[in-house]
This record gives sequence, structure tokens and C-alpha cells, in this order.
Amino acid sequence: MTGNLGRLTKAKRIVIKIGSALLVDQESGAIRRDWLAALAEDIAALHDQGKQVAVVSSGAIAAGRRHLGLTGRTLRLEEKQAAAATGQIRLAHAYEEALARHNITVAQILVTLDDTEERRRHLNARSTLNQLLALGAVPLINENDTVATQEIRYGDNDRLAARVAAMISADVLVLLSDIDGMYEADPRKAPDAKYIPEIGEITAEIEAMAGAAPEGYSSGGMITKVAAARIALGGGCHMALAEGHSLNPVRRLMEGGRCTWFVASANPRTARKRWIAGSLKPAGELIVDKGAENALAKGSSLLPAGVAKVKGRFDRGDLVTLRSLEGKEIGRGLAAYGDEDAKRIAGHKTGEIEEILGYRGRDEIVHRDDLALD
Ligand code: GLU
Repeated sequence: MTGNLGRLTKAKRIVIKIGSALLVDQESGAIRRDWLAALAEDIAALHDQGKQVAVVSSGAIAAGRRHLGLTGRTLRLEEKQAAAATGQIRLAHAYEEALARHNITVAQILVTLDDTEERRRHLNARSTLNQLLALGAVPLINENDTVATQEIRYGDNDRLAARVAAMISADVLVLLSDIDGMYEADPRKAPDAKYIPEIGEITAEIEAMAGAAPEGYSSGGMITKVAAARIALGGGCHMALAEGHSLNPVRRLMEGGRCTWFVASANPRTARKRWIAGSLKPAGELIVDKGAENALAKGSSLLPAGVAKVKGRFDRGDLVTLRSLEGKEIGRGLAAYGDEDAKRIAGHKTGEIEEILGYRGRDEIVHRDDLALD
């Protein structure tokens, strides 16, 4: 099975990004309930197929502004933040209502740039999202616009959605917007512009094509969509860029509807391990006993009980080298505890962590998802 069907049917974890223009009527600022009800049907259908779904939704500012009398002009940053504060409640409520009809629970997550970029916070956000998905909820994610200022802001949910997709090792990111794919030129100006069904690598040429698209053609513009694709592909996640205005946009895509696929060459697991093994410098070492060494080789996480010695200074989220008792490097991983706590729980059973540290941390000292073995 190839193309749309193959990638979507095989995907276990899907992130769907909804642009403001789809969800919120730009004139009245009202949330399009019919459209949302149809999207909820699509999400329920994905759940029925055993898939996990997270939604990154824009629209807080668009849905909130009229309630504060902020209409008819471009908003300043503080005004956008105020509009987002009132719009986000409405947005979350609308999703909650629409998905409740299918007995699906919605959980709101508001993130800032730091939550995805800084490793300790990245691990926190990732494990909360993993937990929610495992419990069958639909995380509803947006940027925390009310506290994000210019310098620490994504500003567009295309890149935010791609970061989230990479962070939670999603298989597919679906970007629903007002354009049905990528073209070699702006199709409004050049009606014969060639549509590109599939892109395997974001070349300079592709970037140049995105740069040529006029601002405002779609909410974040083509530039942020290509930037999102670059992030998604780096995380081993395929990305589909599709038109979302009509009802049931995901179902249409699954039935072979038009989109541009940005195709990742690695899978999310491999991409994450590559990121762990390659891009960071280890800050410390965990010496593991023979039992743990065998368990790791079989694909287990590293538990505190298997750690014989802790070396170096590191914080939670930092990279550590794992070594055998003989000093041989076994692999690398992200530590779930800083060095001081790691020393205290080393050699102890997971059940004793709370008593030793006074808080109940993670069961594993390095989770298998955060591990790259040699
Ligand atoms: N976070 C903004 C909102 O919810 C949207 C950003 C975007 O349109 O990409 O209104």
C-alpha cells in the first residue's frame, strides 16, 4: 500500500494541526461547530482503528478577540495575548463538547518554545503527552500565547505542531490549512503551476518555492509549512499538507484526497536515537551492573537497581554515557534524575525511590525511549 492510504493506515500516532481559518469564521469570530463536529467524527474513526491522536489547534486569538472588542484591525502583541486568554477557553470547550459526543476526553496542553526546546522540560511535556495518549485522551495543544512574548514565541502553530510531533515520536503530522498541497509556483497567480505530490528532501529549491508564496495565502504562509516539514522529517515523522475547509478533511485524506506528502527517510524511533546519540555531549556516566547490561540489550529501560556507580554532574534531561562494570561504553541516554538524586537511588529498587528522595519520580533512571545503545 502506498501514498496516503499506506502512511495513514500504518500510523499509530497522528498529530493533526488545525489552522485558525478552518475553525473560526474570520468575519464573526464564531467557532464553526459543524466543521468541528465533522472533525470529531474523523478523530473518533481514527481511535476506532486503534490510533492515538493529538490535535494542535490555532484559533484562540481569532475566537477571542471579538469578546474584548478587538476587531477590525491588526492587534498588538499584548492585545493578541489578551484575545488568546479568552479565546482559548472557548476553543477548548468547543473541542471538549464535540469529542464528548464520541466519548473521547480532551486534555488541554499549552506550551511555550522552552517546553519543546529545553531538554528537561521537553521530557516533562513528552511524558505527560505520552500518558494522556496512553489513557485514550486527545491532547489539545496550542502555544501558551498569554505568556509567550516575541522572543520566546513560535508565533505559528505549523512549527509548533512539527516540534510536538517530533517530541512524541508521531508517525504522521497532518497540517490542515487552506491550500491543498505544495506547488512549483503560486497557483493563484499561475493556474498551471505544477502540484508536487511528494517531497523526500527539503532542498534549497523547495525552500525557494515556499518563499515565493505570498503572505496571507494560508495562515502561517508556505514558509512556516516547509519549516514544519523540515522539523517533522528530522524527527522521522511524515507530514501531509492538505486542504481542510471541507467537512471531514481527515477522512477525505484517508480516502486518497489530494495533499503533498513530505516523506521522512528514518522512522521516529531511529530519528530520536540519532538525536540522542549524536547531537548532545554527555555530562556524566552511569556504570551499570551485569544484570542491567543484559536487560538493556533485550530492550529494557535502565532501573535505579541496576546502577552501580554515578559519575559527573548532570541535571534531569542531560545526556549520560552508560558503561559496563569493565568500563566499556554500552550506549547513551537521557537521565530522568540529576546526579545527586541518581547517586541516592542507585542500587535501590524502584519502589524505594519515594522513600529515599521524598518524592515519587520516574520508575526508570533512563527510559528505553531515551536510550541509544551502541
Ligand atoms: N496560537 C495562535 C492562536 O491560537 C495561532 C498561531 C497560528 O495561527 O499559527 O490563535
